Amino acid sequence: MRAKVLVLGGNFGGLTAAISVKHALDEDVDVTVVSASDRFLFNPSLIWVPFGKRTERDITFPLAPTFDAHGVEFVHGEATAIDPAAKQVTTTAGTYGYDYLVVATGYRNNMAVLPGLEPANGVHTITTLPDAEEAGEGWRRFLDDPGPVVVGATQGTGCFGAAYEFLFNTAYQLKKAGLKKRVPLTYVTAEPFLGHFGMGGLPGGERLLKMFLKKEGIQAITGTALDEASAGRLLLDDGGKLDFAYAVIIPPFLGQEVVAATPGLADAKGFVPVHDTYQSTAYPDIYAVGIAAAVAVPWTTAVPLGVPKTGFPTEVQARVAADNIAARIRGEEQTRHKSFGDIPAVCVMDAGNNGVMILADHLLPPRKGGILIPGPQAHAAKLAFEKYFLWKARNGYVRLP
Ligand SMILES: Cc1cc2nc3c(=O)[nH]c(=O)nc-3n(C[C@H](O)[C@H](O)[C@H](O)COP(=O)(O)OP(=O)(O)OC[C@H]3O[C@@H](n4cnc5c(N)ncnc54)[C@H](O)[C@@H]3O)c2cc1C
Repeated sequence: MRAKVLVLGGNFGGLTAAISVKHALDEDVDVTVVSASDRFLFNPSLIWVPFGKRTERDITFPLAPTFDAHGVEFVHGEATAIDPAAKQVTTTAGTYGYDYLVVATGYRNNMAVLPGLEPANGVHTITTLPDAEEAGEGWRRFLDDPGPVVVGATQGTGCFGAAYEFLFNTAYQLKKAGLKKRVPLTYVTAEPFLGHFGMGGLPGGERLLKMFLKKEGIQAITGTALDEASAGRLLLDDGGKLDFAYAVIIPPFLGQEVVAATPGLADAKGFVPVHDTYQSTAYPDIYAVGIAAAVAVPWTTAVPLGVPKTGFPTEVQARVAADNIAARIRGEEQTRHKSFGDIPAVCVMDAGNNGVMILADHLLPPRKGGILIPGPQAHAAKLAFEKYFLWKARNGYVRLP
């Protein structure tokens, strides 16, 4: 009997893991992907959706043809229950058994972090496609009746890159709309200092970010938790308040409910604790990669922060998990080990017509080195990377960098 690998989720982690296992074993394995979305979404471009610079069509593609071309069965459905003892998963499209399961179900927003975080109050988020589209409707209403703008990253957030990118893109769009002088722009963040990024900061990062904010006339409030939002007003936990006409807040992420509900599989946030092989610490035949995998935050800050689980480490984790599953199916030892913190950081932070490339030997300290390279070439690199990545993923070229 051929081994069965079941992958939940078909985005960065799921697509990479599924096609990598299939390529490694070909006729010796059946690989099935069950994904709640039937399209791949290039989430890094969500920052441009509110400004009309990207639409759904530009940043998604249908998954079925890609998986078909690589001999992977694709099921459009949502996993609703995982039974590790029976080694089967119930989905909205039927029940699937597995020898090895890969959980790559990513994130959902923890909107409860900020009561009142809702478009009806003029407070948006951009972390899913529908959210970003709704933030675009709010932006167009704002342009008709401008006022102060707030961009924020709440307590517990790890996705600080998206917050900074949206902040600088907003500054750029305000300039283009002739509103820069009329509209105050404020960045409020849980980070203890600018440029912490949930990574502990990088050499020169704080100075660079301060310079960028000063140049754009952006006011910064750091080390602050947000208490509550109401129409046009944000309350900070230090008693301060910020009035706004338009606000975008990046909330923390949680793991999917199906993962959280599986006994022993997930931590309190619904993420799967894993070894450096990406095996669940509770169930050796279950692997978790990408945002679905838990990462211990290596520092304590006055206001809690998450860590940025970005696309590059997600792909690395997915390849490591796939190689280890392939080895076990061949009856060999697992040889691939790579803890999250040891994966290099490779990221581009876009700023509208400018940007910063962020490179470090390790995502988490201790590090030998890290560097931030500002300049318009970073914006060009982000545009080129989007096109390259969508081409790579659509064709299933999962071994390309
Ligand atoms: C606004 C924003 C900007 C970002 N910018 C960058 C950037 O510039 N650079 C970078 O490297 N990273 C960036 N990231 C992070 C990057 O998007 C993530 O690292 C990546 O999406 C993680 O991939 P994943 O496969 O783990 O999860 P996801 O991309 O969340 O994919 C999860 C998949 O699982 C599916 N799914 C969910 N629940 C179920 C279920 N119950 N059953 C079956 N399927 C399910 C979903 O439909 C989805 O297809 C950004 C993220 C956001 C939100």
